[in-house]
Amino acid sequence: MTGIKTPRSAAIANAVDSGDELAPERIIECQFARARQHLSTLDSGLLEVLLQPRRTITVNIPVELDDGQIRNFVGYRVLHNRLLGPGKGGIRFHPEVSLSEVTALAALMTWKCALLRIPFGGAKGGIACTPKQLSQRELRRITRRFVSELGDNIGPYTDIPAPDLYTDSQTMAWIYDTYDALHPGENNLPVVTGKPIAIGGSEGRSEATGRGCVLAAERLLGLGAVPGLDSVDGARVAIQGYGEVGRVAARLLHERGARIIAISDSRGGVLVSNGDSIDLDALNRHKADNGTVVGLAESRTITNEDLLGLDCDLLIPAALGGQIHAGNAQAVKAPVVIEGANRPVTPEADDVLAARGILVLPDILANAGGVTVSYYEWVQNIEHHSWPLEDINGRLRARINNATDRVVARWRGFASDRDNGQRCTDLRTAALVEALERLTSVLEQRGVWP
Ligand code: NAD
Repeated sequence: MTGIKTPRSAAIANAVDSGDELAPERIIECQFARARQHLSTLDSGLLEVLLQPRRTITVNIPVELDDGQIRNFVGYRVLHNRLLGPGKGGIRFHPEVSLSEVTALAALMTWKCALLRIPFGGAKGGIACTPKQLSQRELRRITRRFVSELGDNIGPYTDIPAPDLYTDSQTMAWIYDTYDALHPGENNLPVVTGKPIAIGGSEGRSEATGRGCVLAAERLLGLGAVPGLDSVDGARVAIQGYGEVGRVAARLLHERGARIIAISDSRGGVLVSNGDSIDLDALNRHKADNGTVVGLAESRTITNEDLLGLDCDLLIPAALGGQIHAGNAQAVKAPVVIEGANRPVTPEADDVLAARGILVLPDILANAGGVTVSYYEWVQNIEHHSWPLEDINGRLRARINNATDRVVARWRGFASDRDNGQRCTDLRTAALVEALERLTSVLEQRGVWP
């Protein structure tokens, strides 16, 4: 922690004072405090506005399971900020979903949209459940009841959900269908993004987060930010998580000449033992047949912890938050970590990695491809139009490159300020300062209503 005082909600104060390194809101607070050092013009009232969520909603979702039992699930939707436009953020289904986590993730969405210059605010949602233990019919009923409980707290111009951990285009189709049933006679397609293409989804959306990760990594290396590593071509890559993000990142990196040496999922990981890269086609077949990457032929089984400490060039955590922490950051050997997941590196780990010269490409840039193409989907839905894939991918590349260039330029500025007595800082702080400057300038121009 920097020791700088920023206004806190009671939840944040508890999290910070509890000293729990993995407490989600504490992580946001720490990151914010670091960026704040570089924003001398901000007064504390402005900070209060930016840190606090505008609205938090908790709903109880009673659902009849396939065996006739009734169970209650708890769902959350947090609208963090809508200075730049309607709230935007995914909905996740996971047993660890909590109001604290959803609130932290909603703040990250605010920073992410501001950094990418997308006209959305930040939001997030989730349901505490174990999707692997629920049937498709049960998941459909849970999703529909959640949407009906949220009522008009989501909408095409107020708060727009998207996929996240253990939700996908099918979940988004149910969200759209339910909202549409409750709001007949309107163009409701823009109420949710990440939909199937046949229901107004965008070309390229399902791949966008993984693609954005790769584009940002390529740009970072191309800008010479990592000494001795100027391209992904030939780089040895380890990826934690083989879902929508990790799977696409693996394929695109492989196509660009990278060697995928290790991949994991919730049940463990595999390290290539024969050849210089995992055979991704064989891996996809193995995962489809066995439900896990573990046990792939010509690989050695490793743990997720082993994977994080592998000798490689790019480490991509693309699963859960809090994976690289004070307890294991010393073990990381990759010179650069690309945050495919949201908040996989804690502030304590950031310090350890920075001290060891390891660069972290932060989540609000590295995984922003998803919200970028979600924005394109939203525009297409409003215009009743669809853009070709090449168009989407070209726009995505331009936006990610532009954001990466701004972050690296700012980071280099910080580094050269060191001689003037200012602390040399990291890419995360550079990205957050970039985002916060945009938000505060808009806040100052709009003023606070009334
Ligand atoms: P997903 O549900 O498609 O895949 C998640 C993957 O993580 C699976 O392979 C799962 O087995 C693995 N996993 C789960 N628990 C694990 C554990 N304890 N250790 C290792 N692996 C584990 O989810 P996704 O959409 O790929 O999202 C992954 C991350 O990326 C999340 O943090 C999410 O918030 C973030 N993200 C996703 C998007 C998107 O558009 N999908 C956008 C931005 C950020």
